[in-house]
Amino acid sequence: MTLSQIITILIIEDNEDNLIIAREILSRAGYRVLVARDGDAGLGLACNHRPDLILMDMYLPGKDGYETTRLLKSEMITQDITVVAFTALAMAADRQRAKAAGCAGVIIKPIDVDTFAQTVASYLDPKTTFRREMNQPEPMTALAEFRDQLRLSHDLQAPLRKIQQSCEFMRQSALQDMSEENRRLLGIIERSSHQMLAVLSKHFHLPQ
Ligand code: MN
Repeated sequence: MTLSQIITILIIEDNEDNLIIAREILSRAGYRVLVARDGDAGLGLACNHRPDLILMDMYLPGKDGYETTRLLKSEMITQDITVVAFTALAMAADRQRAKAAGCAGVIIKPIDVDTFAQTVASYLDPKTTFRREMNQPEPMTALAEFRDQLRLSHDLQAPLRKIQQSCEFMRQSALQDMSEENRRLLGIIERSSHQMLAVLSKHFHLPQ
């Protein structure tokens, strides 16, 4: 009970939004969460950390989720790890294909923040639950708030990037026609928008 008190979940997912939301929900539910953005990185983490569960996006750059799952299931060190397909495609044929690759089941995207942690928990080996009880999960009510913050952050990002693009355009096309004072003001707008994006990125771990 000393080395492995906390259940580890590996998320292999290339969509940044899904990754952020899934990681946040599972961390708050008390799990240790590892993330990979492609199959090869996921294989490496799976071998090194032997997670209790892997959430596998089926459409990844490079090796897709099916191939990555087959490789996990063919290696002795990783073959016992439960792999759950994490996909927007949930037709019978898709489920069948995921199962044939070695997945224990399917969790549907988009993520339902109210049920996701419980759905993931249903795939965990009951033997591992005693370890989860040792964690101190944050109240799940915080998740709705987090989801709203995430949405707000995304809504702010688009106009901020437009401001930056406009500044860059002005810098390239009109700088020589601008007065000293207007150049100074352009610099202020640029720095301010960079600062705001940096705050968002830091707070939500968003890609730059
Ligand atoms: Mn994908």
